[in-house]
Parts: sequence; structure tokens; C-alpha cells
Amino acid sequence: MSPGTHLLFSWLSTAEILKNRRERAIVSISGIAPDIDGIGIVIDEISGTTDLYFQYHHYLGHSFFSALIISVLAMLIAKTQKCAVFVLSFILVHIHILFDVIGSKSADGYQWPIYYLYPLNAEFFITWDGQWELNAWQNQVVMLCLLAGCGYYAVTKKITFLEVFSSRVNDEFFKMYFKYIHRNT
Ligand SMILES: [Zn+2]
Repeated sequence: MSPGTHLLFSWLSTAEILKNRRERAIVSISGIAPDIDGIGIVIDEISGTTDLYFQYHHYLGHSFFSALIISVLAMLIAKTQKCAVFVLSFILVHIHILFDVIGSKSADGYQWPIYYLYPLNAEFFITWDGQWELNAWQNQVVMLCLLAGCGYYAVTKKITFLEVFSSRVNDEFFKMYFKYIHRNT
């Protein structure tokens, strides 16, 4: 699924469990971190001769070993609830992989296989026959549900996924909300 879906799902998963913004942001980033292996697309665009995106996307970041590395790094960076940060990051990388398996088919019908045991085993991969396209209605329904969840936490806890980027961005959002929208309702 799209990085936006991974980010919102990961952030929502932290809202009840992690007490501080720093740890919520770290775990949310863990949830989208597997897609860093798609960064080769930028180099491909610039060079015009490489094919790094096709070579490495769903290999390097979408494996058991990358889940382990991402979770350990997240735990080391966290200052509080380190154990929860590790467990949540590990689970969310796997949910990311699951989401990609079920709903990331390219428009041309290509199913991105997940090389879960890479680099130890470059032959084994995971795909699912029923996989739907990246812009299918199922993904849009998932996104609507995630946005509804974000709305719930914005109202009840005054936090949004914007805090992943900085607490100031989150605070500015509520300042604007109370200044321009809440005042007029
Ligand atoms: Zn992915």
C-alpha cells in the first residue's frame, strides 16, 4: 500500500500505547521505513540508466532481517518505553509487509513479490493471488477508516500524525483550527 497508509496506520497504533511524542514518531517512522528500499527510483530518474528501484524494492527493506534492524534502531533511539517501541516496530514492519502483499499490485498487473528472507535466501518470496491494485477501492476504504481514526484522536487527545514531523507542526494545526474553524462553529 502507499507510504501514507503505512504512516497513518503505524501512528494510530501508537496513540494508546506510547505516552510521548518522540516514541510515537519513532515507531511511526519504523512502520514506513521498509519503503526506503524504493529510494532507488530517485537515482533511476536522475541517471536514466540504472534500475535500482526494480532491483531492490521489496528486497532490502521488506524482510525479517530488516524488521529486526529497524526495531533495534528504534529501541536504541527511544528514550522511554524501549521494550514497547521494539515490539511495536517489529509488529508494524510485518503489518507493512502484509499490507503490501494484499494491496500493492501495479497498474500493469505486476505483483511485487516480497523477499522476506533476503539476503539469506534470495529465492523465497511471498505473493498473493488475490492482491488488489494500489489505487483500488479497498485501499481507499482503508484510508477513509484511518482518517476517521485520526479525527478521533484529534478531538479526544489533541494529537495528529503531524507530530511525527514535529510537535510544532501539530500545535500549529490546532492553533489554526481554533482560530479559523472552531470560532465560527
Ligand atoms: Zn512497502
